[in-house]
Amino acid sequence: MMLADALSRLDYRPAEFRPGHVWLAGAGPGDPGCLTLEVLSAIASADCIVYDALVSEAVLSIAGKAELHFAGKRGGKPSTDQEDITRRLIELARAGKRVLRLKGGDPFIFGRGGEEALALVQAGIPFRILPGLTSGFAGLARAGFPATMRGINKAVILATGHAAGTEEDTDWAALARTGQPIVIYMGLKNLPLIAEALMAGGLGPSTPAAVIEQATTANQRVLVANLGTIVDEASAAAIAAPALIVIGGIVAMRELLQGSA
Ligand code: SAH
Repeated sequence: MMLADALSRLDYRPAEFRPGHVWLAGAGPGDPGCLTLEVLSAIASADCIVYDALVSEAVLSIAGKAELHFAGKRGGKPSTDQEDITRRLIELARAGKRVLRLKGGDPFIFGRGGEEALALVQAGIPFRILPGLTSGFAGLARAGFPATMRGINKAVILATGHAAGTEEDTDWAALARTGQPIVIYMGLKNLPLIAEALMAGGLGPSTPAAVIEQATTANQRVLVANLGTIVDEASAAAIAAPALIVIGGIVAMRELLQGSA
C-alpha cells in the first residue's frame, strides 16, 4: 500500500487528543482524499464523533471504535438545534471523552464553528480547531474551476445564499458591482432570487454560471450555463443540495482546463 508506506515515512506527529477536550474539525467536501492528516488522525483517536449531515459515509467509515453522534442540521431550522449541539459537546467533554466535532468542509466557513468555539470558551472547555478544505475552493478545483485566474479576477467572493429574500440578505447588487466571481454556499433553494438580484445589480444574463452538486464525490455533477439560464437548467437537471453556485468569468475556464486523468 503506497499510502500506508508514505505515512510510515512521514515525519509528522499529531498533537495529543486529550480526554475532556473538544476538537472542531473540517472533513473537507466529501472525498476522503481531501481530508487533512491531522483530521484523519483525530477521527482515528476520538472517543466520540459529533458529525454533520455533510460528512460523508466514506469519511465516517474511518472511525473505528468511536461513538457516532449525528448532529445533522439543514438550513432554515431554528437555532435551538444549535444550542442542543453545543450542549452535547460540553456534556461529552465533561464526561471525559475526546470529542471530535466533525463538520463538512472547513469548520469556520459557513459552518457555525465560530459559534461552537465561543460556547466552548464560555464553558471553559479546552478545544482546538482543525481546518478542513472548504467546498468553495476544493470543490471548485476538483470540478475544473480555478478560484482565481490571472487576467480574469483579482478577488473571489464566498457568499451564503441561505438568507436570500429575508431582511438579513446579502447586498447582491453590491457584490455584482465588484465584477469579481462569486461562489455561493447554501444558495440552491434561493437561486431564482439570487440570480435576479445579481442581474438587477448589473451582471449580464450571459455571465458564465455553474452549479456543482456533491463536489468531489462519486456522485458529483457539474452544470455549466449562464446567469440568465442557470435557474431553469438546474431545475431541469433536478440538481439537489449540497450544491455550490459559481458565477463569473472563472466558470468559462473549465472547458479549457478539462484534465484527461
Ligand atoms: N463548512 C462547509 C460549508 C457548510 S454550509 C464548507 O466549508 O464547505 C453547507 C453548504 O456547503 C452546502 O449548502 C453547499 O453549498 C456547500 N457544500 C458543502 N459540501 C459540498 C459538496 N461536497 N458539494 C457541493 N456543495 C457543498
